[in-house]
Order: sequence, then structure tokens, then C-alpha cells
Amino acid sequence: MKQITTYTGKKVLVLGLAMSGFNAAKLLQRLGAQVTVSDVKPLAENQEAQELQAAGLTVVTGEQTPDLLDAGYDVIIKNPGIPYDVPIIQRAQKMNIPVTGEMELASEVNQAELVAVTGSNGKTTTTTMIQKMLDKDRSVGHARYAGNIGVPASKVAQEVTADDTLVVEISSFMLVATTTFHPHIAVITNIFSNHLDYHKTRASYVAAKMKITVNQTADDYFVINFDNPEWRELSKQSHAQVVPFSRQNLTQDGAYEQDGVLYFKGEAIMPASEVKVPGDHNVENALAAIAVAKIKGVSTAAIQAVLRTFGGVRHRTQFVLEAAGRQYYNDSKATDMEATEMALKGFKAPVVLLAGGLDRGYTFEKMIPAFKDHVKAIVLFGQTAKLLAQTAKEAGIQTIEMTENVETAVPLAYHLSAPGDIVLLSPANASWDQYPNFEVRGDRFIKAVEHLTGKQEEA
Ligand code: ADP
Repeated sequence: MKQITTYTGKKVLVLGLAMSGFNAAKLLQRLGAQVTVSDVKPLAENQEAQELQAAGLTVVTGEQTPDLLDAGYDVIIKNPGIPYDVPIIQRAQKMNIPVTGEMELASEVNQAELVAVTGSNGKTTTTTMIQKMLDKDRSVGHARYAGNIGVPASKVAQEVTADDTLVVEISSFMLVATTTFHPHIAVITNIFSNHLDYHKTRASYVAAKMKITVNQTADDYFVINFDNPEWRELSKQSHAQVVPFSRQNLTQDGAYEQDGVLYFKGEAIMPASEVKVPGDHNVENALAAIAVAKIKGVSTAAIQAVLRTFGGVRHRTQFVLEAAGRQYYNDSKATDMEATEMALKGFKAPVVLLAGGLDRGYTFEKMIPAFKDHVKAIVLFGQTAKLLAQTAKEAGIQTIEMTENVETAVPLAYHLSAPGDIVLLSPANASWDQYPNFEVRGDRFIKAVEHLTGKQEEA
């Protein structure tokens, strides 16, 4: 950890706990700051707040009203989920109190080489691929991942050394709060129109994403998707060396796909079909990762080894195992129609689809084309089972089964499938009607598949 004095003796308010606020508060204490944490959850049911209080920090729970700032603070570390238009942040800005974030703080103490990944989709997958490639055949240190991926950056940043590489997944919410954040390699996977409720306009969303490269210099690298004219244009704003990637073979200056083969600057890396995680979108993620790995001099053999074996991030079109000729995939993270469509499009073999969940009042006609093209049989559960059955019927799917839940769906799906088929959990709905979260739903699916096949999930 870099010994910095920026926070020594300073009064810092950490707004919003959860994992990132908790770790930021501990780091700030270590850096000699006078830390106050504020979280809406009452102390009695707030384990993190209790722990920090026991460690000597000032803890304020309950509503985060502007008068909290009467105590006078030098800096505010804001949870990325808190919007800028809430009264307390508005007042902080009027009072000229700098508002920053946990990722910024982490980057200030980080000594490892920094690689950062953002984008509307594919962040976690790309971050994981990059971390695995950079970790594969290095002579010193390790590659670690952190950030939006679920591992607090401010914790990992205290552990890594100058021999290591820190690969962080950073969301647009986190990027807004950065000022000195400076990755050696920055990656943008794509920019669609997400989170306009938070960023208000597409222009401000794009500007937030572009903050990933704003402090980069000619010694750094900016890896960006060239398959969209807007993104190609944006790359011109960067001061770093631009290394593009393109699945549509629109450039050969970086990583690209041509006639089904992945290349880096003219060197054939591997056939796209050998990338284990399914779908064209994952080929894009693989190209982004190849670009970073090649910048860092990772061998082609190491890149191939990672892409041929990495079965996907847990619950995101994750390859579970193969048994009796069927391949089982867990895409429990698909809590909306778009994600399920994306997953279905990733498969060439016939799919037996497991779907259904929380009824949010929408209907499913939009899915008819993807159902028609990919789904041979469907097994439905949860509140939306009936609605989905109607759509499946309209799509001409012959075999439609209704069942209790994910666990009972698995043996049914097996009986409806044949060798060569895909059995896919991709619910197109949130899990909350039957499960505490999508992770539990996915884990139950995996358990049921293991029980049915007598095999273990592949690592
Ligand atoms: P994120 O971390 O940005 O949410 P993930 O890697 O976790 O992204 O992938 C989540 C879902 O987003 C995937 O299941 C898939 O449906 C979709 N996705 C992943 N990569 C891409 C991509 N490059 N382009 C479009 N959609 C993608």
C-alpha cells in the first residue's frame, strides 16, 4: 500500500456502507482520518455499522439529511448508488466539500499496475478473462480483480504490491466520482443506453464512461470496441495509445475477428468457436481481453488456455457440466427478457429452456423470434409461468411444461432433451417470487443438475 498523507487528520464522511463503504471507512482510519460513517439502516440490524463503531469510528444511522454536514467535513466518500441530486450531496456541493468514491480512494493507495474495465455490458466477464490471462504466465506477482465485480477495491488495493496487476471493474456510477483515477490500460466494452435514470442524458452517461481514460497519457493504452461509429469517434478523445477491437473486422490495428478466427495485429490467436463461453457477445469480450493480454505480452498459448477453459462468470450463461450428451448452462442472472434473448442467441444447438419468475406486469411477445429460432421445449415455473406458456405457444413451441420451481424443472428438462441439446436456465424474470436472489436460484439449479447427473459442476 502506498503511504499517503492526503487524509491524515482530515474529517471524512463515508455515506452509505455496504461492502465498499465499510472497507473505505477502515482504510481511511488506517490512513489517519477522523471517520464518520452514515448509513440508513438502523444500528440494531446493521452489522457493518456495529463493527465500525466497535473499531472506534463515529457511526450515524438513519436518514441522510443535509444537516449531517453541520459537523463540518473535509471530504465525503459517497456510495456509487447514491445519486448526486439528493439534498445532502446538493448541500455538500454548495459547501464545496469534495465528493469522491471508494474506487478513487483505492486507486490513491494502490501500488499495482492498474487495468480498468467499464462498459454497459460484459464488464464482469471481460474483467475475469483479463485477470486470468494476466495471471497465467507471469514471472512475478499476481493479477487480482476487484471493484464492481463484488470484491472491494479499497481492500485489495491495500494488499497488492508493485509486482502485481490490479484489474478493476468500474461502473459509470463509480467513474463519475473519480478525479485522479488513472489506469495504465483502460477498456470500454461497449456503450448502450443504460442507467439514464441516474445520468439523465446519454451525453452524461457517455461522459461518465469516458472518464476512464481522461487521466491517461501517451504511455498508457485505451482499448475500445470499434464496431460502432460513435465509439470509434470517442476514441479520438483519449490521450492514450488506442488499441481497438472489432468482431466485425472493421480494423486490424488491434484484436479482431476475421472469417471465424480471432487475430491480434495479423497474428491468428484461435478460432472464435473455441471460446468456451457461448455467444457473439462473449467473442467481443474475448477480443477486448486479448487486446489487453497482448499489450502486456501474454503468450498466445496462455490466452488460448484461458479462453478454451473459462466457462463464464457464475450465473451468467455459466457452463455447469456436460452429462449424457447434454450441456447444462446456468444464466440465473438473466432477470429480464433482453438477457434471455442474448443467451438464446448464443447457442446453435436446440435449447430446452427453463424460465419464469417474478411478475412485474410485462408480457413476453418480444421473445417470440428468439423462442422460434432456438427453443425446442420449455419448462416454466414461478408467477409468470402462464404468461410465458402463452408466448411459447404463439412461438410454435410444441412441448410446454409447467412445474413448481427450478429444482423440479431440471429432471423434466432432462426428459425433454436429447444428446447434443442445451439445457439452459435463463429465467427472463427476477427471482424474488420464489428465491431470495438470483444467486440462490442459480445455485439450486446447479445442485439439481449435480443430483440428476451424479457429476460435479466444472470449476
Ligand atoms: P456486466 O458486468 O457489465 O453486467 P456481465 O459480464 O456480467 O456484464 O454479463 C451480463 C450479461 O450481459 C450477460 O449474461 C449477457 O447477457 C450480456 N453481455 C455480456 N457481454 C456482452 C457484450 N459484450 N455485449 C452485449 N451484451 C453482453
